[in-house]
Amino acid sequence: MALSFTCYASFNPQLRGTDRPITQSNKKCLEKVKNVVRANGVCLNTTSPHESLQKGSWVKLICGASFEDVVDIRNLSLVYTLAGVDCIDCAADGSVVNAVNEGIEAARAILPIRRPWIMISVNDHEDLHFRKAQFDPDDCPLDCSRPCENVCPANAISLSDKLGAQRGVLTERCYGCGRCFPVCPYDKIMEITYIRDAAATAELLKRSDVDAVEIHTSGRHISFFKELWDGLGDSVSCLKLVAVSLPDIGDKTISVMNMMYSAMEANMSFFNLWQLDGRPMSGDIGRGATREAIAFAVRVAAAKDKPQGFLQLAGGTNAHTVDGLRKHRLFQTTTTSTKSENKNLRSTSPSSTALIGGVAYGGYARKIVGRILNSMQALHGHAFIEDHPEHLVMALTEALALVGPIKCYPSS
Ligand code: SF4
Ligand code: SF4
Repeated sequence: MALSFTCYASFNPQLRGTDRPITQSNKKCLEKVKNVVRANGVCLNTTSPHESLQKGSWVKLICGASFEDVVDIRNLSLVYTLAGVDCIDCAADGSVVNAVNEGIEAARAILPIRRPWIMISVNDHEDLHFRKAQFDPDDCPLDCSRPCENVCPANAISLSDKLGAQRGVLTERCYGCGRCFPVCPYDKIMEITYIRDAAATAELLKRSDVDAVEIHTSGRHISFFKELWDGLGDSVSCLKLVAVSLPDIGDKTISVMNMMYSAMEANMSFFNLWQLDGRPMSGDIGRGATREAIAFAVRVAAAKDKPQGFLQLAGGTNAHTVDGLRKHRLFQTTTTSTKSENKNLRSTSPSSTALIGGVAYGGYARKIVGRILNSMQALHGHAFIEDHPEHLVMALTEALALVGPIKCYPSS
């Protein structure tokens, strides 16, 4: 089912750029933020995203392929840009890309840190990351204890009786994790899946502020991947990076990666990356969630016949991921060769490349900063985080604790 969702925020979505007046509050913010950044040893001239991939210090923030709350996305982008991430991955929607850009530029107005790449995520067929929950709240039994509300990690379900409150699933906040489906005792929650349109994606990729695309695939139907790839046409030629996100499909994983690489190879003028999606959308659950991502990475990194491309973990990644990588000697260790050498590819010698390019953080990254965004909202309503320095400093401290160990900031 091909669907398009409209992004909206419950306050004026005309987000501000960098031309707003500097208030006393902004000045205070600037000093406090500078102090936090200095104390953590973040280098403003940190490595380029490509160098980070080579060194194994790449960090990507995943806003969520279906998460479209532009206010949160702007604030998350601001906080994680200041923390030094290399890439911000978001929904393939113009309003969402605008929000990411606003956050990045607002961060750079505070400190002249280098710009992370912006990546948009699309799918070649039905995929867990591209779905929404939906139900009619008026159809719910009055005596239901509302377990759906409690289980949702995105605060995307509201059954508030307050006058004017939005009820049911807040579509822009639902990112499709699926946790609400099994807890409803009355089976009222529907799953709505969608596939991003290739032609619309190709148009979005032509924007100068979009640097990368990520194709989510199950790897089980190579024809779907090829169809999407052909549909993107020349739009990929100006990109810096193309990522393919795939789950572990056992013995077939490497051969499927090689088939997809062959499909892309002819017009490959960009770097390519394999996102190894261990246990999708589970990083916020706890220590156990990261094991599948690490086990997947261990297997692929050891495969001799894998195709060219950087490797990056996702799906279950959290504060325990770096420890797991260290344990398996995959953290920033240098190495080795991959199967093919494409002369057209803008690539450096594989011998100078880390085994694992880096890590993408999604649900966990949103959770630790989201707690602070929620408390700010409770006090001030929807707001720009830089207007509330105490919240920005807290959010930045959380973000640095996650990003720092991969970047090897002195304080980490
Ligand atoms: S629990 Fe997950 S799928 Fe259900 S509404 Fe919340 S984010 Fe959406
Ligand atoms: S658990 Fe099911 S029935 Fe109960 S409020 Fe949620 S959707 Fe409605």
